[in-house]
Amino acid sequence: MPLPTPIRPDSLLGGRLALNFVNTAPHSQGLQWEELIAFLEASRIVSAERSARLLLLPQSDLQSADALLDKSHRLRDALHRVFTAMVRKERIAREWVEPMNAILRITEGHDELLQQDQCWRIEYVAREDGLDWLLAAIARSAAEIVVEGPKAPIRLCANPRCGLFFYDASRTHRRRWCSMAACGNRSKVAAFARKHSNFRHAQ
Ligand SMILES: [Zn+2]
Repeated sequence: MPLPTPIRPDSLLGGRLALNFVNTAPHSQGLQWEELIAFLEASRIVSAERSARLLLLPQSDLQSADALLDKSHRLRDALHRVFTAMVRKERIAREWVEPMNAILRITEGHDELLQQDQCWRIEYVAREDGLDWLLAAIARSAAEIVVEGPKAPIRLCANPRCGLFFYDASRTHRRRWCSMAACGNRSKVAAFARKHSNFRHAQ
């Protein structure tokens, strides 16, 4: 089923929920309501049914929708700052994580162990009153990455025009591209074209 609004198809290749969230708007324009809801649905934080109801929320309760959108922008900006620092192996300032803590703090819920494909993972189960819980899993995912510290294999795609983050879970930890299809091949084609044109000039 097509998503209600186009979110970049490669924006779910970050390997971690929090990285995918930052990747929804790699060049720092704010997310629109429809994009936020599309992302939550694509990341399976909400069902298709819940997503359809949320899309209509601004018509019935603009204030709540605006408040959540504001929080999601603040969270996204904070995560962008934190992950950029992690890629550069720089210190994370205490105030940068405050928007993450703000969401973790006000969202009541609990963690649950779930088994999937022979692996155990912790999933956050939030109480469903208010809308802040929609961002709780993202804040939790970001917090887990921060806790990994300087060794966390967070990378920025080697294509300088791309701007997508990813979690390098490859065995060699030498992954360079957000995706081979989106940026890797493009770079190889460009390198080939450069080589070819140098060859022509040499003749
Ligand atoms: Zn890329």
